Amino acid sequence: MPKRVPITVAHGDGIGPEIMAATLHILKGAGAELDVETIDIGEKVYLAGNSSGIEPSAWDSLRRTRVFLKAPITTPQGGGYKSLNVTVRKTLGLYANVRPCVSYHPFVETKHPQMDVVIVRENEEDLYAGIEHRQTDQVVQCLKLISRPGSEKIVRYAFEYARRNNRKKVTCFTKDNIMKLTDGLFHKVFTEIAAEYSDLENEHWIVDIGAAKLADTPGAFDVLVMPNLYGDVLSDVAAQIAGSVGLAGSANIGERVAMFEAIHGSAPRRAGQNLANPSGLLLGAVMMLVHIGEMGVAERVHNAWLRTIEDGIHTYDVYKEGVSRERVGTKEFAEAVVQRLEQTPQTLKAAKYKPVEGEAAERKQTAGHIRAQKDLVGVDVFVDWSAASADDLGSALVGLNGDGLKLEMMSNRGVKVWPGGHSETFCSDHWRSRFLSENNGGTVSHSQIVSLLERFTRAGYDFIKTENLYTFDGERGYSLDQGA
Ligand code: NAD
Repeated sequence: MPKRVPITVAHGDGIGPEIMAATLHILKGAGAELDVETIDIGEKVYLAGNSSGIEPSAWDSLRRTRVFLKAPITTPQGGGYKSLNVTVRKTLGLYANVRPCVSYHPFVETKHPQMDVVIVRENEEDLYAGIEHRQTDQVVQCLKLISRPGSEKIVRYAFEYARRNNRKKVTCFTKDNIMKLTDGLFHKVFTEIAAEYSDLENEHWIVDIGAAKLADTPGAFDVLVMPNLYGDVLSDVAAQIAGSVGLAGSANIGERVAMFEAIHGSAPRRAGQNLANPSGLLLGAVMMLVHIGEMGVAERVHNAWLRTIEDGIHTYDVYKEGVSRERVGTKEFAEAVVQRLEQTPQTLKAAKYKPVEGEAAERKQTAGHIRAQKDLVGVDVFVDWSAASADDLGSALVGLNGDGLKLEMMSNRGVKVWPGGHSETFCSDHWRSRFLSENNGGTVSHSQIVSLLERFTRAGYDFIKTENLYTFDGERGYSLDQGA
């Protein structure tokens, strides 16, 4: 008898238990070899006083099985409850969010009959590190962090995913015309890794026009990979315009653990009435079967589901007079899929899953990155100041020159205001003064920076933060300013 694969299952809240029962019924009927461990998450765990919505003991199960099939949960109203998804994603290092967005024309109404895209969203970095500071009366900041290893992992995952799933093209979205270092790194890594996959097309779009194109002509895209924030926004847009939020599943992949779910929530108003569509969770479960290597079962379930949709057997959310044939409840839908387990779709493209060959994508490393020569060449000192014009502050800060450092320029919210600013530029109370070596292009020491800060302190300035300026193999590791 084949070895059963242990998985952790959470039945969730609202419609969760019904769609999970339907999903597990179909998986069983298809012969999935699973050993199910059940954990409690969601509303009752929150209300029992656990602000993260998950029992400490549940982590043991997740660490043991490393595979999590999760039904949607209800986050109770009111403050103090942490998002369970964010907790699970961060705790278990689930770096890739994978969301196929497919239209099922002509069986499910959609504006985009040709849509079949997969969004691969980086899940851990970017603005989501949650590092925010209020620095002055007027200004707050959020740090956007993009790392080379993080970008390499997600981009490689996207290319491996494309290869495994017979996809033709991987598209990257960034805004590197503005964020030249952060998004620039993501784009650069994309270009480097794309070169290793000559069997796949690759392209890059600036995210704004790319997003417009995606919303208008999704058929132009195949697999898309992007940093966290763009992926968060655009994966919802893509699922919505496919016409089928209730039909989409998603995977959150980590190096050790992976989580699979529907993209929708717990729809509490529909709970307990045998109404809900189990398709999103079922398609999440199909991704899980592929992940654990049960390709044959994944294919059987996916194709039976496609055939059910084609046969017009639809739950209320998809049902449409004249297109659908039969309006069914959750249980009857599941039964209809089970009855079609040996069938394939006749019009829609049949699902086909290849076994993963060689090393898993997530364990592949990009060959030896040699650390660059890093030189300290100056410092940006940020000052909270509201009592002077740019010229007044500039002239005053020139007085702090010395010990090998000199004021190069000042900016306010990224716009250069000294020397030679424009009177129209609005200035907040958040100023950046840039000090570089007196010796043009020369290096400086940390102690020179410390003495500069002492001069700031003695002169009575509130310096709110500093950013050291480095070059890496002689290449500037900091942005210039608009107007610079
Ligand atoms: P929702 O996705 O639950 O519902 C939105 C709409 O879609 C509703 O009209 C609902 O009836 C319908 N719908 C959703 N899934 C359906 C399905 N499978 N079959 C038929 N109809 C379906 O979003 P919401 O109402 O904003 O949120 C409800 C609860 O779900 C909230 O507590 C929210 O925090 C939670 N939520 C959980 C997750 C998750 O666990 N991953 C995700 C999103 C929302």
